[in-house]
Amino acid sequence: MFLEAIALIRTMPCLAEPGRIIVMGKPSQELTDVLPYLAVLPNVISYNPNTASLTFRRQPGFITLLEDRVFITQVKDIEEGLELLSTLVDAINATWDHRHELKPVMEPRRTPRLLDVWSLLPKTNCRQCGEATCMSFAAALLQSKRKLQDCTPLMTEDTFIDQRTTLAALL
Ligand code: SF4
Repeated sequence: MFLEAIALIRTMPCLAEPGRIIVMGKPSQELTDVLPYLAVLPNVISYNPNTASLTFRRQPGFITLLEDRVFITQVKDIEEGLELLSTLVDAINATWDHRHELKPVMEPRRTPRLLDVWSLLPKTNCRQCGEATCMSFAAALLQSKRKLQDCTPLMTEDTFIDQRTTLAALL
């Protein structure tokens, strides 16, 4: 067994889908050693061993694992969040127990889709980034024509902390 638990330490409104929440969890130990094995699993859209960050697509939303934090977006309520964190602990432990059968990923991977990026932006089309819409900003991000820092609301408003973290991991 690698991990005893992931404690739910905070919830926030999920701006990607009003009415849902983002769950932030703290693992009982750092995840750095298990991330290269988890990066083998399906639905990985971004992995960076240098920053110890791994993001999975789930339906709906994302799961992002950092060294000492876990974020799950678009969660229905706290009860579902606790279930998801418990399932994640089981998945991490199962992966760790089978690590000798897996080839760890040691290189960065990045396969975000346009809609993945757009869903994490404020989606107000305020134009402060110089683009006409958040969708065109998402496309520019994927083409490296813009940087996250160009979206002032994303970078400065506390309510976007989770999206900011997830996008930084994705890109
Ligand atoms: S600044 Fe951010 S919120 Fe405003 S249009 Fe650009 S991407 Fe969308």
